Amino acid sequence: MHSTNIPFNKPYLSGNETRYIEEAVLSGKISGDGMFTKRCHQFFEQQLGFQKVLLTTSCTDALEMAALLLDIQPGDEVIMPAYTFVSTPNAFVLRGAHIVFADSTAENPNMDPAQIEALITPRTRAIVPVHYAGIACDMDPIMAVAERHGLFVVEDAAQAIDSFYKGRALGTIGHLAAFSFHETKNIISGEGGMLAINDARFAGRAEIIREKGTNRSSFFRGEVDKYGWVDQGSSFLPSDIIAAFLWAQLENMQDIQAKRKALWQHYYDALAPLAELGVQLPQVPDYATNNGHMFYVACRSLDERTRLIEQLKGQAINPVFHYLSLHTSPFYAEKHDGRALPWSDHYTDCLIRLPLYYELSEEQQNRVIKAILEFYAH
Ligand SMILES: *Cc1c(COP(=O)(O)O)cnc(C)c1O
Repeated sequence: MHSTNIPFNKPYLSGNETRYIEEAVLSGKISGDGMFTKRCHQFFEQQLGFQKVLLTTSCTDALEMAALLLDIQPGDEVIMPAYTFVSTPNAFVLRGAHIVFADSTAENPNMDPAQIEALITPRTRAIVPVHYAGIACDMDPIMAVAERHGLFVVEDAAQAIDSFYKGRALGTIGHLAAFSFHETKNIISGEGGMLAINDARFAGRAEIIREKGTNRSSFFRGEVDKYGWVDQGSSFLPSDIIAAFLWAQLENMQDIQAKRKALWQHYYDALAPLAELGVQLPQVPDYATNNGHMFYVACRSLDERTRLIEQLKGQAINPVFHYLSLHTSPFYAEKHDGRALPWSDHYTDCLIRLPLYYELSEEQQNRVIKAILEFYAH
């Protein structure tokens, strides 16, 4: 029997993307901070309650801006989970920081707040929690330990749009936060990102760093009568063509989110019986919400995961594994202090992500579910 291929991800066009891109192009201003960028900023600041946001060309760039804003210096230490994307540590490594990796929790791949205090030294400057799968880290203890030691908190909220911690939007809790609009995320613009600035001390300098170290943003608001080179910086702002695409997505965020959450819930309900076999399903703690970013299960072993992926691929279903623990990566293994991080290794070996995208049909999703249940029935 021939069945159609079910990819891992399929970028969703919500309707007005190409129309808005055309509008941006025809407006005659397609560099950064045009009309669509302003609309996106207003959406986050006025409708979602963010204090200040700036679109960037990627989440990677937003993290690099955060490292610049915190004035990370060579030898400074930054604490973060080992189970994350390379951009999280790389942004700080570019400034000469040493990364101190923390382990994940047994419940989910988020970093374990209970481990943080023991990792703090006089050189520690920042903590970078990553909200894996859009499910919140336990932020109260993380903010409390940061406050006790005078440290900054940067949330890697790449996957965390429209997700909450005790009623507060993720990305509004740390001093700074970075979001991604990469095509694999919930709300997309191909490549794209955003820095959220929750501490007013950083607001002015964030604009300058984003505009090549110039006070161009103040100039356009009429606050200064000429603009010049006032600090270090780079070019972190996206073209308004990117923002036009993003605006079309943001307009339809509720619809996109409702669909993704329904798909997530259907996977969860159908696969819940596997928990009895020792297969780990995602856990959403009481303090967190689920934003339907990702549905994963953690198999009981690497070998089991390899066989499951093989079997699904044989049925034209394309699940994928995820991060490789960064403390054992070719680049960082020698720099890591040698501590074992068993939960990070567990998710490296055992976690598998299932197809989840707006246009995944009920029939396709049921095919994925059936294939997995069959695998575990033997
Ligand atoms: C996607 C992702 C990034 C990188 O985002 P880009 O926009 O591609 O730079 C960083 N951190 C995490 C946790 C991610 O999921």
